[in-house]
Amino acid sequence: MSLRLYNTLTRSAEPFVPLQPGRVSLYTCGPTVYNYAHIGNFRTFLFEDLLRRWLEASGYDVFHIMNLTDVDDRTIAAAREKGVSLRAHVDPFVRAFVEDRDWLRILPATEQPRATEYIAPMIELIQGLLDRQVAYLGEDGSVYFAIARFPAYGKLSRLDRRQLRAGASERVSADEYPKEDARDFVLWKAARPEDEAVGAAWDAPFGRGRPGWHIECSAMALDLIRRRLGTDVLDIHAGGVDLIFPHHEDEIAQSCAYTGRDAFARVWMHGEFLNIRGEKMSKRFGNITTARDLREDGVDPGAIRLLMYQVHYRRQLDLTDEALASVREGSRRLGEFQNRLLAAAGPAESPPLAAAAERLERELTEALDDDLNAPQAVAALFAFASAGNAALDGGAAAGPRALAAWRRAEGVLGVTSSVQVLKVGTAVGVGASGGDLPETAPAGADEESQRTWALEWAVRRKDAKAARDFVEADRIRGRLNAAGWEVRDNRDGSIEVVRARR
Ligand SMILES: [Zn+2]
Repeated sequence: MSLRLYNTLTRSAEPFVPLQPGRVSLYTCGPTVYNYAHIGNFRTFLFEDLLRRWLEASGYDVFHIMNLTDVDDRTIAAAREKGVSLRAHVDPFVRAFVEDRDWLRILPATEQPRATEYIAPMIELIQGLLDRQVAYLGEDGSVYFAIARFPAYGKLSRLDRRQLRAGASERVSADEYPKEDARDFVLWKAARPEDEAVGAAWDAPFGRGRPGWHIECSAMALDLIRRRLGTDVLDIHAGGVDLIFPHHEDEIAQSCAYTGRDAFARVWMHGEFLNIRGEKMSKRFGNITTARDLREDGVDPGAIRLLMYQVHYRRQLDLTDEALASVREGSRRLGEFQNRLLAAAGPAESPPLAAAAERLERELTEALDDDLNAPQAVAALFAFASAGNAALDGGAAAGPRALAAWRRAEGVLGVTSSVQVLKVGTAVGVGASGGDLPETAPAGADEESQRTWALEWAVRRKDAKAARDFVEADRIRGRLNAAGWEVRDNRDGSIEVVRARR
């Protein structure tokens, strides 16, 4: 069996075959940086992280784009409320997102375009749609997409075409609207004084204004895959189920009308909602939980990943106190097992462990090839830990096969608690170190010297952050990651460097 993925477009699980052999283009709708991303957003990003990691583990070279929506109705409203520029409002939330993403062990995308840095390709796309007469300039100065001119409109969300309302008096200018409101949607919004006030307006041949939310993703995706891969069709486009309509439907209309292709993405994947104690997470219920809330409660990122992966991405997940307690315990047990396994590493293969490893390899592949059946993959990991613990109790050594099987499975899932494992260095109150520090880890040095090197860079990163030099801080983090180290800032002010796992 090979990889099968559920495609929302066809409402069925299909064998996955990329356009170019060995290479996958993947676009995932990123966060709107008007606020902290909540744990429901991260459920989607974690489902996408699993997809990305499994594609890579299956031998594909993945070109992954995740955008940052830094201009839309919500970001502008939030900046206005605070009385600051759009940029000043969103920048701290961009940094917070990167921090939360790294903490949750989510791999950074290959490209992370910010909408405001892609205004030119957006204008070009809109001009193209005007030229093809599938878009028109309204008397309000905004540009709208004429859904009546695009016969495939409604294909993804399976809208009844009789529900479509087209024409000048039947259009919608809000970024988000319900399915019953399938009308001409906005591509470019004429500048209002409140947009100008926060610096959210740009000149365009069809009038000064700013992009609608939907056009942003189409323009960033098309610009990047055209330039980098020489194609204008994505292999996979993913997001939360709430994006099917209108966001993804509108992305398809704009992109296909522009490229003339019959597909914008060949496979559309959607992750289900996360509820909190049986209720939808919303401002109204006051139950919005962010990744940082959980981090402050001392929850391990491995436990959060375990929580998400215990339920299939196409099923709703309910976050309860009991569920959280159970995954914290589960993740810790896996962490303890990993400690034992690594400590028992040796050249010889023990037959029971080798047999368990063979089973883990097979079960992991079967599970994840089956539309990312993470709950089954997690069950296989626990089964290996149980068999492994029994074998280690009997004095078995962990041979290369057992270690490789574990590393592969845990490298894809990342559900093991990091608190007790691989914690090789903690610096408390290390002063700023001066002098020359090599840019790369000392070659051939022992683990202790490498740790010292990583720790010194981590201290410099902390200094850079304190001096608000976030560019330098990010550069150092990237250098450490490249050398296989993860840096953590603890709440007591100490810094930790731990061996990063992939
Ligand atoms: Zn999008």
